[in-house]
Amino acid sequence: MGSPATPSVTDFRRLLDGLMAEHAGQHVVVLALDGVTFDVARACWPSGDLRLMRAVTPTTSSACWLSALTGRTVADHAVPGVVFTAPSGGPRLINVLDYHGDDLTAAAGTVFSDAARHGRVPLAVLGDMEHYGSAWRDALLTDALRVPGHSFYTEHGTYHPRPSGDVGARVRTAIEETLARHGTRGPCLLWCYVEVDQHVHRHGYDTHTTEVLTALGEFADTLTRRGVVVVAHADHGLVPTVHDPALAGLLDGMGQSHGFTMGGAGRMRWLYPDHPAQRAELSASLRAALPDDIRVLPADQVFAAGSAARSRVGDVLLVAEGERFLTESDYRFDHGSFAAEETDTPFAVWR
Ligand SMILES: [Zn+2]
Repeated sequence: MGSPATPSVTDFRRLLDGLMAEHAGQHVVVLALDGVTFDVARACWPSGDLRLMRAVTPTTSSACWLSALTGRTVADHAVPGVVFTAPSGGPRLINVLDYHGDDLTAAAGTVFSDAARHGRVPLAVLGDMEHYGSAWRDALLTDALRVPGHSFYTEHGTYHPRPSGDVGARVRTAIEETLARHGTRGPCLLWCYVEVDQHVHRHGYDTHTTEVLTALGEFADTLTRRGVVVVAHADHGLVPTVHDPALAGLLDGMGQSHGFTMGGAGRMRWLYPDHPAQRAELSASLRAALPDDIRVLPADQVFAAGSAARSRVGDVLLVAEGERFLTESDYRFDHGSFAAEETDTPFAVWR
């Protein structure tokens, strides 16, 4: 674990607010890079002023980005991951990426509200988030002026592989065009979402990834020569993970014999027992049946007891510690658990 001085992504809003105040007359560009781990960023960004920033738990995009842009903890913003019980309660599970209810999370200011308060034009280049319309995205982008029309790792919301040079060029174009169109009105906060995660899920931190990150670091460097301040950071990293069909079958069978449904995502799942009074018995059965590298934990150990986030997750957590777990069949890397490569993310500044 890091020293107490290691900031969390929950500190991102405060740190960015400080930068916006310090560099009042200058544009501030934020490269919001989904799924980049600290060590890989460190190797690619020699010219950035880089520090370690810890992801929140679980190391899931929905929880981490909401903490970064609102400054709220997971317990407070109450989005604990991807699949969880509907905010209104009851047995129904929602997928936060396509949920449109108005009760997902309490209204809160964001980095864009801060930018407007500083007299900046608060711009969000939707990028790979353009086709993820949801209450979650609305919460994330509260007070932002949305800029559509750019995609990097996706087309219409699904993974679309492109050479590293194309990805870098598309990011440069998105930022240059947006600054040219809106930057004449005064200093901007320009936030741009690049879903590197789509590539890393399937290919890991390969040459493509390091070429893209290196190109973005060089672009950041060139922007500073024009007086632009650049921040690059991530929500979480990923670790090698493969789908284990035998484990999936075992859990399906136990779901029927013991009675539970499953939520969560990636390397952290949670179970909603049909009979909550039997959760200790269910946990014991799971520990006996599952491999040693899958931890079975009470939800209270990870989510603050009594919090809105805790009320939305199941009572029993399954957390991957090894490579074999549940994931998409074409994924080779995933996230959601406690590995250092997942929790350790970069926060880099060029000025
Ligand atoms: Zn992510």
